[in-house]
Order: sequence, then structure tokens, then C-alpha cells
Amino acid sequence: MRNITIAIDGPASSGKSTVAKIIARNLGYTYLDTGAMYRSATYLALENNINPENISKLLELLADNPIRFGKTEDGQQKVFVGDKEVTDTIRQPEITNNVSWVSALPEVREELVSQQRRIAKEGSIIMDGRDIGTVVLPDAELKIFLVASVEERAQRRYKENLSKGITTDFDTLKDEIATRDYKDSHREVSPLKAADDAILFDTTGVDIDGVVQFIQEKAEKKIDMKNK
Ligand code: C5P
Repeated sequence: MRNITIAIDGPASSGKSTVAKIIARNLGYTYLDTGAMYRSATYLALENNINPENISKLLELLADNPIRFGKTEDGQQKVFVGDKEVTDTIRQPEITNNVSWVSALPEVREELVSQQRRIAKEGSIIMDGRDIGTVVLPDAELKIFLVASVEERAQRRYKENLSKGITTDFDTLKDEIATRDYKDSHREVSPLKAADDAILFDTTGVDIDGVVQFIQEKAEKKIDMKNK
């Protein structure tokens, strides 16, 4: 059985990771959450008072404290930085509101992109992020770019935060999402944008099952074609 590589990109809270996880499970693929990697780098930066002037220290910290993924018994993703579990910590507002400057650092991107490509070499991978179809895996057989209105994305993040015990003001959340999108799309290195050969899908008003079905059908067609 020959397998394909799937790239899912899109702005904050467009549903990428939720659907990517489900599709990975359905197809028996590996899921890689690249946003969690940039969030982990941000965690290291904030814990160690890194600023744009001492990036070499951050690179040393990344080398000494590798970002790893694990799973709980019920299949939930766990994230580790060195020996420390940071799964919930990296979703806190302080990290979310600082991730854009850390992820805009070319040195950090270079390191994390090379880790992402190494993981993708194993094959059967579904990866989500901002630059997967454009930079990380330009040869991915299936590229999806998910979009949704800021209002709807803020609502999703609001509910997601609540379920994790994080209370946020809705309007603040909306502003934060819009600001993060702006920063991610306007940075110099690997900005958020759809690859020319990506399929654009607006998920506003579409539930998770609908998005999963849309992408999985396309993935299964590509897998069939590859195995003919
Ligand atoms: O996907 P998530 O919202 O967790 O991503 C957090 C942040 O990580 C994004 O806002 C962006 O700044 C950065 N990111 C990136 N490139 C990726 C994935 C995430 O720059 N491939």
C-alpha cells in the first residue's frame, strides 16, 4: 500500500487540528501538529526571558529540550519540551499571544521545519499549520486550506477554552484571533497563505463531520490513484 502526504493549512481556529486528528485516526496516518511545536518554542522563550536579541540561546534551549509528542491511554495528544509536559500550558493565553513573534524568527522556523520534514519522511502523514503546503511539504499530494469567519472561529475557540477551564472575554478573543492572523499572514518568512495548488474550503457553518468528510474523500481518491 502506497501512502500520501496531506497538508492542511489555515488561520487560527479554522478547525485544522480537530479534523486532522480524526482523519489521521481514520486512515491510520501520523498526525503532526506544527502549531504545538511553535507554541512549545514560545514556552521555552518565555520561561527563559528570550527576546529577539538572544535567539541563539533559544536555539540552544530547543536543542537541549527536544519537542516530543506522546499519547494518553485514550489517544489524546501530549506535548513535551524536554522532560516537561506542556500540553495544557502551551494553550494558555500568554503563549497564544506571544507565539506570532517567536514563529516569525527565521532561525526558529528553520530548525522546526527541518524537524517537521524529518518526521514526514516516515510517510503516511497529515500535518497542519500555516506553511505546510507552501514551504514544509511543497510536494504533498493533497493540500487543503481551511478558512472560516473570525466570528465563527472566535466562537469555536471560546468553547474550546471553556472546556479546558480557561475563561476568556469573547470580544478579546476575536481581536486576538484577528491580530494573530494579521501577524501570521504579514511576516516575512513563510507567511500564512494558501499554496497555488491547495483546495480552499470555507468551513463557516460546516460542522466537524462535514469538514472531515470533504477532506477524507479527497484523500481516499488520491490514495486509490497512487495504488492503481
Ligand atoms: O495552529 P496554532 O494556532 O496552534 O498555531 C500557533 C501559532 O504557531 C500560529 O499563530 C503561528 O504563529 C505559528 N505557526 C506557524 N507555522 C505553522 C504552524 C503554526 O507559524 N506551520
